[in-house]
Amino acid sequence: MDRAAAAERIAVLRAEIQRHDHLYYVEAQPEISDEHYDALLRELAELELQFPDLITPDSPTQRVGERPLEGFEHVEHAVPMLSVDNTYSPDELRAFDQRVRRTLGVETVAYAVDPKIDGVAVSLRYEDGSFVRGATRGDGRVGDDITQNLRVIRSVPLRLRGSGWPHIVEARGEVYWPRPDFDENNRRLAKAGKTPFANPRNATAGTLKQLDPRIVARRGLAFTAHSFGLIDPLPAGVTKSMQLYERFREWGLPISRYLRLCTGVEEVIAFVEEWDSQRKQLDFDTDGLVIKVDDLEQRKRLGSTSKSPRWCIAYKYATEQATTRVLSVGMHVGKMGTITPVANLEPVLVAGTTVRRATLHNFDQVRRLDVREGDTVTVEKAGEIIPQVMAVNTAVRPKTAEPVKPPERCPECGGEVQQDEGGVYLRCINPECPAQRFERLKFFCGRDQMDIALLGEVMVGKLLEAGLLHSYADIYRLEQRRDEVR
Ligand SMILES: [Zn+2]
Repeated sequence: MDRAAAAERIAVLRAEIQRHDHLYYVEAQPEISDEHYDALLRELAELELQFPDLITPDSPTQRVGERPLEGFEHVEHAVPMLSVDNTYSPDELRAFDQRVRRTLGVETVAYAVDPKIDGVAVSLRYEDGSFVRGATRGDGRVGDDITQNLRVIRSVPLRLRGSGWPHIVEARGEVYWPRPDFDENNRRLAKAGKTPFANPRNATAGTLKQLDPRIVARRGLAFTAHSFGLIDPLPAGVTKSMQLYERFREWGLPISRYLRLCTGVEEVIAFVEEWDSQRKQLDFDTDGLVIKVDDLEQRKRLGSTSKSPRWCIAYKYATEQATTRVLSVGMHVGKMGTITPVANLEPVLVAGTTVRRATLHNFDQVRRLDVREGDTVTVEKAGEIIPQVMAVNTAVRPKTAEPVKPPERCPECGGEVQQDEGGVYLRCINPECPAQRFERLKFFCGRDQMDIALLGEVMVGKLLEAGLLHSYADIYRLEQRRDEVR
């Protein structure tokens, strides 16, 4: 085959492969078998080997780079990636809508609403249809250049479909690890005696930090676009975000299947309620919805604070669960000597806060759950309640995990322990137990009791350590011992 014929065949093969990638990874409707697909890819690779000068960076053979990076470069975002404020109740949503309508001076606002994927936010930059750079959110203004790692994600098109794209298209969205693939990967790890990942979000974040894109390629990450940065120029006739997303779809950029246009806040609230039950059946983790003003001119008029846009808000469901891993099981000795088992967790975001510990209540509960160090567990946090471990996924338990045994002595003072009559609670019966003394003094000084503002948890700990506190009365003698306290 001469060079001209090869160039022609290469163009045909690339277009075919890109079409099948789109059908497979974006539409989830493949037309050809894996063998047929591999044959196309092999033919392309062989032609490119014969004519290496015909290789372009957006060729499907170029997804995986040759060698690991030394580190990530920093990228400044053309348009900052701001964070989104949260709401937790329909009334807060109504208040948001009221602010928006008042600023705009309109009766009703149309909102684009879609489920918030619990993944890692990224920005993809296309120049004249070619994927040139991908970056993490970072601090919102400067992120890490993770282009190599994003190239290997099959739902990220290396080249946009069709034609007539703006010179610059910045698609923003979420990289995530779809549940079925994540679970399968964890089962493989557990079988091989390796530590499974705590949850898809942490695993995705860790994967994108890999310097070797070949590792990323082996994990089945996916991308879904939910917003945009710089679009230059904005296509003629596009005045609403939904219209732009329609273009994104035509260009082969994956958009959430669940994206919906809601007219007025009551329609948004109905969608929120409808989703509360549906969200558990999705192939990704989600803790709520993101609600954005649809009209681009209205967005401009609303503007942003330094932290977040005024035209966008997230709704978070109040009770939340997340999966994570138990790093260790610790013991907490309370003010009455009750020994409470506590799970120390790989940090995980639940109901908007980072959870590092969850209570296991008592040793009866530990036996019932059969929770062990290294286990993958479901934690739940509802409102202000202390996070608790709800369930254990024993299918991915490490082989070496041992059952947790109740302590024979007090873990704080080594003193004798006693079981209460119901056999549920274990108590340290040493009245001089320093852990108990600490808890009692903390309680005594706390807001519900004497409300001694200066004696917080840290200060009580320091005073005990210095031997300055033995009883409640000592608290009031501290004044006379000022020099020692300082
Ligand atoms: Zn003790």
